[in-house]
Amino acid sequence: MRLKVLGGDGGVAPGFQTTSFLINQSILVDAGSAATSLSLSEQKKIDTIFISHSHLDHIKDIAFLADNVFAIRKTPIQLVSTPEILQILKDHLFNNKIWPDFSVISNGTCPILAYQPIEHSMTLGGITFEIYPVHHPVPAIGFIIRGKKSSIVISGDTGPTTLLWQKANQEKNLKAIFTEIAFPNKMTKVAEAAGHFTPQMFKAELSKIENNPALYIYHLKPEYKALLLKEIKALKIPKLKLIKLKQRYTF
Ligand SMILES: [Zn+2]
Ligand SMILES: [Zn+2]
Repeated sequence: MRLKVLGGDGGVAPGFQTTSFLINQSILVDAGSAATSLSLSEQKKIDTIFISHSHLDHIKDIAFLADNVFAIRKTPIQLVSTPEILQILKDHLFNNKIWPDFSVISNGTCPILAYQPIEHSMTLGGITFEIYPVHHPVPAIGFIIRGKKSSIVISGDTGPTTLLWQKANQEKNLKAIFTEIAFPNKMTKVAEAAGHFTPQMFKAELSKIENNPALYIYHLKPEYKALLLKEIKALKIPKLKLIKLKQRYTF
């Protein structure tokens, strides 16, 4: 499986793009920057978007992507998540007030979006996506993504959590965990309330992870980026790297 980082910043400013990962050519995990980072012809290839949670920095570009590909879709783009998370998108984003309801509006052939609720897993093109709840102030899930050779985890936004790591520990060939650090150590209270990690909180969390995968960190708040880089370096965690925009990985 191939993964490309479209965005992985904890905020928006020039040069900063919010969370979105492209898997192979046609699958997104979150869509914080899908329309901003992908060319129009690349956007036309997106068929499925897995959604970790309803926060704007993870979903905002679904709106612009749907608009961009309106004329050319022959089947709807599938929005995949728990029923609860999808309901939030229906009620609060694609509600004909904030943005058109593209699950109803048709281009003459089909609607542009379709909701695909899942409870546990979905397999697409030989890749299985399993979902597990994580710790965040809104309903939120992390993913175990298992290809033919190996698996990876994308945690979505989370503070300290349990089940996702327990399941990750059972993976035979876990290559990498993509997870978050958002706030510097001095903002531990804010991080706890907001369901995010500080560098110190993340170091403590590592005691739950057993199989020594590579750790790719995203979601640094732009305002604290310099301080966070210092604090993350000071942790001296082997196999920890920050993700880079446009970086490609093969697993
Ligand atoms: Zn969030
Ligand atoms: Zn976020």
